[in-house]
Amino acid sequence: MRLYLVLLGPPGAGKGTQAHRLCEAFGLFRVATGDLLRRIARETHPLAARVRPVLEAGRLVDDATVLEVVSHYLDQAAGTHEGVVLDGYPRNLVQAEQLEDYLARRGETERLWCVLLDLPEAVAVRRLTGRRICPRCERVYNVDRIPPDGRCEACGTPLIQRTDDTEAVIQKRFQVYWEQTAPLVQYYETRDRLVRLDADRSEDKIFECLAGYVRQWLTRGG
Ligand code: ADP
Repeated sequence: MRLYLVLLGPPGAGKGTQAHRLCEAFGLFRVATGDLLRRIARETHPLAARVRPVLEAGRLVDDATVLEVVSHYLDQAAGTHEGVVLDGYPRNLVQAEQLEDYLARRGETERLWCVLLDLPEAVAVRRLTGRRICPRCERVYNVDRIPPDGRCEACGTPLIQRTDDTEAVIQKRFQVYWEQTAPLVQYYETRDRLVRLDADRSEDKIFECLAGYVRQWLTRGG
């Protein structure tokens, strides 16, 4: 694969929205661990009983389970896509090391880039409480821009609020972000793999910036 793009940023920074747009525009493969884990929790999956309570508490699912899920999708994408967008992975230093090992085994360490979508916490919290999602195709909407019939524009499924988008769980997710995920900024910065983007701007503006980088990385091949 030519590009492994890690989208980093606090909950509500717009990782999911931008990941969808990038994948549509550049034909990339989206690996969104939050979506995948939520799906596992909803279905009669052998891992559901383990994953569901962790999601509902806003904590992180254990690294081994997440690695199993992620590597399955990365292996799958390797034969079919030019690149992947990793939305929500890695989320702590152990996961970052596991991803690095995975890439090293493939001689693809230089293909990884990380974009930090930077956003003040207060703005992020406002976005999260107003968020609605499509449970089928995982598209993200905000209460002030949802279609009048309350259904997903892409697939017609009724939109829902995520069970972890409540104030108490949002607080816990931020705590986890600052303690476990934010150290990844320095991790990728010291490896010269990090780009910072101001995410307190319009969706289109952020996309424009991101698309510029992605175009460059895909052409250069890492
Ligand atoms: P957000 O980034 O808005 O918090 P996500 O959809 O990315 O939302 O993640 C939702 C939840 O899924 C997290 O709170 C966590 O419980 C779980 N999760 C997602 N990615 C990971 C990961 N890489 N490692 C462990 N748990 C994860």
